[in-house]
Amino acid sequence: MNAYDSQVAAGILEKAGFQVITEAEDNEVWRNLARHLSPQSTHAGVEVPDESLRPDIILMNTCSVREHAEERVWGRLGMLGKEKKENPSLVIGLMGCMVEEHREKLFKRFPYLDLMVGTRHIKELPEMIRQVYETRKHVLRIKQDGISIEYSEFTKRDSGFHAWLPIMTGCNKECTFCVVPMTRGAEVSMPAAEVEREARRLVADGVKWITLLGQNVNSYNGGLTGNAQRTTSDPAVDRCALNAAREVRFAELLERLCAIEKLERISFTTSHPTDANEELFRVVARNPKIGRRFHLPLQSGSDKMLKLMKRYHTYAEYKAKIDRLREWVPDISITTDIIVGFSGETEEDHQATRRALEEIRFDGAFIYKYSVRPGTPASRLPDDVPFEVKSQRNHELLTLQRGIVGEKSRELVGKTVSVFVEKRNLENPEELVGRTDQDRRVVFVSRKDLSGQFLKMRITGLHHETFRGELA
Ligand code: SAH
Repeated sequence: MNAYDSQVAAGILEKAGFQVITEAEDNEVWRNLARHLSPQSTHAGVEVPDESLRPDIILMNTCSVREHAEERVWGRLGMLGKEKKENPSLVIGLMGCMVEEHREKLFKRFPYLDLMVGTRHIKELPEMIRQVYETRKHVLRIKQDGISIEYSEFTKRDSGFHAWLPIMTGCNKECTFCVVPMTRGAEVSMPAAEVEREARRLVADGVKWITLLGQNVNSYNGGLTGNAQRTTSDPAVDRCALNAAREVRFAELLERLCAIEKLERISFTTSHPTDANEELFRVVARNPKIGRRFHLPLQSGSDKMLKLMKRYHTYAEYKAKIDRLREWVPDISITTDIIVGFSGETEEDHQATRRALEEIRFDGAFIYKYSVRPGTPASRLPDDVPFEVKSQRNHELLTLQRGIVGEKSRELVGKTVSVFVEKRNLENPEELVGRTDQDRRVVFVSRKDLSGQFLKMRITGLHHETFRGELA
């Protein structure tokens, strides 16, 4: 979602006449360097290479889901203060969840910040920048409830063939550790007809693979057209109102999108276990267009912890869903998120998580050390697992999980799989990068640009989590 927001910001600024240089520091912190168009500056890359390319505006996107992500932003903001001292005309902007979380307080702490834009007003950036230049005052736009997603045709995508498509914003779950409901607000689903229209527009633009985005895509519940309030005696409008009143759940939305010709792959992230139901599994099973990867955060293998986290399911219920999903979609890849060291986690709870990882053998897992997020329900619980213990549990689970992923990955070497070729490999221009149906990254050498095609490839090797392939 954050990376998508960065693409929207970059695209909108470019459309407004800015030259955009994008620098991504993993998915959590994206820093966009934007500068007014000038004849000599046609650079897009990671570093600001020379003096003539010094940016006029620096816009940094932020994530506040974990303390670590925020800490990096604090560090960078300090550095930007120094840059501003050297170059007082530099405009510094901040966007994303940290803006929603800290609001005006950030201007007090970092007075050299010029503008801040929250998660739902990105489109107003060019106008805000103009305002900064005109008034030289702090400019702030933050969340107003009720605003849903506005799709932008100017999103600056990094592949011509793959696009992200948010279908909802916000979150209505109550996970006690999580700050997302505070930073992104209540859940709003886009009307299904609008999602479909946007998907068709992307496909007409050459996109073949769409990833649907939302905090909990499987709790998606959009009206068909979104005109729910209108009722008149005009039969045409009545039909409209009926359509709006009719609910479209996620499984149905997926089927509607699968019917779009020339859209060849649909994937989605993220899902909450309680809403991941058999109806959805059935739709995945019978639609080969749907990517074979399910990210289903478990967080903990201990029922006591799951309850404290308010996840609304037990480990046994989660495991039963995984079993069902694997039974119906045998080639599915299942990945997860785990939090170690949440409030009250004992060694026994930790061992329950360890057993869960051993039993389920996920195809991938992100393992996070718990950090208290201000304002969350869990911030009232004691953060009572010492940092060293969190680190040790984190290390233990990472080692275990790496072993499992290694074993599973090696099984793929020598096999022939279908790969969707996305683009040239930025790190090695002789190679192209693609993804398997299970969303595994594959690189292969090719002079010819085969981007946008599904190819049969033989997997020849493995380096870290990237596979090497050759045309079969
Ligand atoms: N609804 C999204 C949430 C994104 S956060 C989703 O389900 O993916 C992604 C992961 O960050 C969560 O699944 C959780 O494992 C982790 N996380 C969230 N809050 C955290 C916190 N306070 N401390 C540590 N990890 C956290």
